[in-house]
Amino acid sequence: FVTIQEGCDKFCKFCVVPYTRGPEYSREHKKIIDEINLLADNGTREIILLGQNVSAYQDEQVSLAKMIKKISKIELIKRIRFTTSHPNDFDDELISLFGEEEKLMPQLHLPVQSGSDKILKLMNRNHTREDYLKLIEKFRKAKPDIQFSSDFIVGFPGEEEEDHQDTIDLIKEVKFSLSYSFIYSQRPGTPATNLELLSTEVCQKRLEELQGLLFKQQVEFNNSQVSKNNLVLFENKTKDGNQFFGRNQYMTPVFVKDESVSSGEIRKTLIQDSNRNNLFGNII
Ligand code: SF4
Repeated sequence: FVTIQEGCDKFCKFCVVPYTRGPEYSREHKKIIDEINLLADNGTREIILLGQNVSAYQDEQVSLAKMIKKISKIELIKRIRFTTSHPNDFDDELISLFGEEEKLMPQLHLPVQSGSDKILKLMNRNHTREDYLKLIEKFRKAKPDIQFSSDFIVGFPGEEEEDHQDTIDLIKEVKFSLSYSFIYSQRPGTPATNLELLSTEVCQKRLEELQGLLFKQQVEFNNSQVSKNNLVLFENKTKDGNQFFGRNQYMTPVFVKDESVSSGEIRKTLIQDSNRNNLFGNII
């Protein structure tokens, strides 16, 4: 994990980051490349670029897309990912890169928070549901097998049943391979703390419906990998020493029982079984 950017200028009404971490700041690109070269020499094979709003990265003429291109030239680095992004900070160069750069993995965490235009506006997200869906379409055009994960806030003040159903519809339309969802909770010092909270019962009921759907999509996605070959970057043995753990190109944990595996290797693995969180397979 390499932090390349900190802070955020977006001021979503529920979030403390702009107040606690300050405005967007990008680290010097040369220092980042030096650090990644050092990590590669010490055995790192995958780089996950981190930032509160990482897609806004910009140092002199180096954007996030250009940074990824520079990192992909480091031979020992085999995989690149980045997180977390705001949907408004993707340019065409970054989107196309998913179809052009093999080292950039086909999985993206793209928080949407709500599928309702009314709630997105109340949250000050500065994009609409349509903008988000169009962005997803662009990524899928550039890289047809790309998978998305997202964050959802349930019961943001002002959310009505209709808004909640808009979120449910958006989830059905996009189909997420992984998601994080929470009932809205106030963060001291943020503008949303002055808004009236929804009842716990309503929030709980909506969360259950939303998570039921998200978990179903996650199970379906993992199940869709059974009988397929995945490229797994292996990390280490499980605590009991019986299995080796790695992640496929979509970030899903994969477990194999195979003595021939070593840390840092990418091996073709035939997926034999799945559950909600994990895949199980055999090395080919
Ligand atoms: Fe920035 Fe993300 Fe917080 Fe919005 S939710 S203010 S984009 S860090």
